[in-house]
Amino acid sequence: MKYIGPHISIAGGVENAPARAKELGATGFGMFTKNQRQWVAKAYTEENISRFKENMEACGYKADQVLCHDGYLINLGHPEEEKLEKSRAAFLDEVLRVEQLGLKYLNFHPGSHLKSIDPDACLDRIAESINLTLAQSESAVLVIENTAGQGTNLGNRFEEIARIIAGVKDQSRVGVCLDTCHTFAAGYDLRTEESMEAVWAEFDRLVGFDFLKGMHLNDAKSEYASRVDRHHSLGKGNLGWDPFERIMKDKRFEGIPLVLETIDEERWPAEIAQLQEWSDSRL
Ligand SMILES: [Zn+2]
Ligand SMILES: [Zn+2]
Repeated sequence: MKYIGPHISIAGGVENAPARAKELGATGFGMFTKNQRQWVAKAYTEENISRFKENMEACGYKADQVLCHDGYLINLGHPEEEKLEKSRAAFLDEVLRVEQLGLKYLNFHPGSHLKSIDPDACLDRIAESINLTLAQSESAVLVIENTAGQGTNLGNRFEEIARIIAGVKDQSRVGVCLDTCHTFAAGYDLRTEESMEAVWAEFDRLVGFDFLKGMHLNDAKSEYASRVDRHHSLGKGNLGWDPFERIMKDKRFEGIPLVLETIDEERWPAEIAQLQEWSDSRL
């Protein structure tokens, strides 16, 4: 089964997310664990946690249908020690929130070298950040998102993701999220059946489908290989509908959250319904 749904708002409390997802017809969803633009947030209350769990159950969602996303300020490969420590502390806080809610996956952008350290040294620093976080947490799986490679962001090449994973001691608790817009903007062509198959083969060879724990389904305003990160509604950008139809009919993308980060909320129910129809039509 495919778990399809958008990135859902947690306004008013995390416990509101499951019902919002359900209302849109989602079979999976993404969410932040806290305000994504601030370093610190109030701890969850017992009530936040128990109501979140009750609502998950009432709406029929399980942990592996949800992909949490970390905040925007965190850089796990930060070149400066003090800022690296701040990022690691904030990241650990998010991982512990995921575990408190009984969830499983925390998706994050690998990090940026900010032109201050060698990219390989930055990737190794990110792996070390993952190791430190895993040692202080119990069960959450840390899901590395591929990037468009905008600015000094690392993680646009599959080789870079493979290098991070190679540096992780407990590889049972690390995964990868492929964002279709980022993949395309990074120079992996998903537009035709042949080119898409070549991209998945390259991913499987360098990283491995076993590590795929989620997808972000976004069309791209960005041009191919532009390294620019601009999402679009499905079918409206440079990818068009075809790549999404192929993904929906492909077994390799089952059992993991497939999250829409598309730009027009009004279109979400229609996007979900179209994707679901293709998924159901698979023989
Ligand atoms: Zn994304
Ligand atoms: Zn993006």
